[in-house]
Amino acid sequence: DQKTIQPHIFFFPHMSHGHMIPTIDIAKLFASKGIKTTIISTPHNLSLFSKAIERSKLSGFEIGVLALKFPAVEVGLPEGCESDHMVETQEELQKFLKATTLLAQQLEQLLKDHQPNCLVADIFFPWATDVAAKFGIPRLVFHGTNFISLCVSHHLMKMDLSIVSDSEPLVIPNLPHEHKLAGNQIPDFMKQESELRSFGKAAAESEWRSHGVLVNSFYELEPAYADHYRNFLGIKAWHIGPTFLCNKEIEDKAKRGPKASLDEHEFLKWLSSKEPNSVIYVSFGSVVKFDDAQLLEIALGLEASGQQFIWVVKKEKSDQENKEDWLPEGFEDRVEGRGLVIRGWAPQVPILEHQATGGFVTHCGWNSTMEAVTAGVPMATWPAFADQFYNEKLVTEILGIGVRVVEGAKKWARFGGDRVKKENIEKAVTEVMVGKDAEEMRSRAKALGEMARKSVEEGGSSYKDLNALIQELGLHRIAPPQS
Ligand code: UDP
Repeated sequence: DQKTIQPHIFFFPHMSHGHMIPTIDIAKLFASKGIKTTIISTPHNLSLFSKAIERSKLSGFEIGVLALKFPAVEVGLPEGCESDHMVETQEELQKFLKATTLLAQQLEQLLKDHQPNCLVADIFFPWATDVAAKFGIPRLVFHGTNFISLCVSHHLMKMDLSIVSDSEPLVIPNLPHEHKLAGNQIPDFMKQESELRSFGKAAAESEWRSHGVLVNSFYELEPAYADHYRNFLGIKAWHIGPTFLCNKEIEDKAKRGPKASLDEHEFLKWLSSKEPNSVIYVSFGSVVKFDDAQLLEIALGLEASGQQFIWVVKKEKSDQENKEDWLPEGFEDRVEGRGLVIRGWAPQVPILEHQATGGFVTHCGWNSTMEAVTAGVPMATWPAFADQFYNEKLVTEILGIGVRVVEGAKKWARFGGDRVKKENIEKAVTEVMVGKDAEEMRSRAKALGEMARKSVEEGGSSYKDLNALIQELGLHRIAPPQS
């Protein structure tokens, strides 16, 4: 008699929106294959996403949750600082990473108690490979990024970056396209031995020793890099994206993050009164926040472009009588009817998918980039840190579906990057919305969107890779429970 135990996967994402959101989608994908899924996180993160997790139940995908106590105070962070959007300085980031290393014991206890068959743990938790090995289960790595940035980062990790200067950029060898980085584009902590660089090395090393890597991308989008990663770098990987396509209903698409500032139906009503491809959506993800001077430049650039827009601003209303110095005087009156300023969280996927949306000013976070590609929307690219620079290269130079807001090499905004001027914003917005080049970018983006959807349908590349992974892990052999 075969034991009838439902296979069970633990997901342990990094505590950030850009990792929690795709993890919930990935859990739904596995749940749709009859596999039990549990997401492990801190109480704060789980509460931010409780609506999204509840909704998944309504769509028939049961996702369990387990909470860990996050030792914020123990490492010198304020109580409740449990998510990476709350961390600003490099020093705080170091403390935050230190706190994550203290979670190993709690995770071990959960593995002991629940005995899952597999652990999908974020790249931010290098120690998870050894913890999984103790229990004889495979550890898969999730980065929240794509093949191009995985390839570039792996090469960078092996190089001596202390010798790179601003005048002679570093050429990263062996990649399918030329990738150059100037000295000021590499954060200082990467150039010398430092805690953060050692952390990066430990993460890369734990990835080598893990069972393999889950990538939220699809093969047809970056075939040369998918091949390079697997064949040249020799790392096992499964591409299973775009994972957000598992959300079919408008409510599921809209309620993937914290509570939105405006109901999705209100946005959609506004958009529905507009011509196709006549609105540009402007948003920079969950981490990037600009100072007042930069917000002012954005406002003036958008106004000067003459385009209709939805602009999402991650800044709370000032508590002094709602005074908002960062908006030019009379701005909202002047743009009334043609522009919407959203303070807080917007239902991004339904906005991008709406036929009135014709362009996207983006920081090139990987989730946002995939969502735009899949919706067939060309981009004005404005990367700020991490993989966003490589994603920009993919979008502008390799796929030809975007223009750079600022030409040339850029610095991490987190580490002293320059402010972008209104003229650059106006120009990029216009280039992405109007004219022959814009049309051509849009039609290339639409073709890629079509490929994205096909990849997750039966027989598509991502569909097949997900099934291949389930076979390889032997999860299909464990019979589901009889109800
Ligand atoms: N997002 C959203 N509304 C917002 C801001 C972000 O729905 O107001 C979603 C967006 O659709 C994406 C994720 O949050 O799925 C942001 O991830 P990304 O990788 O683009 O950037 P990060 O936040 O990690 O910088």
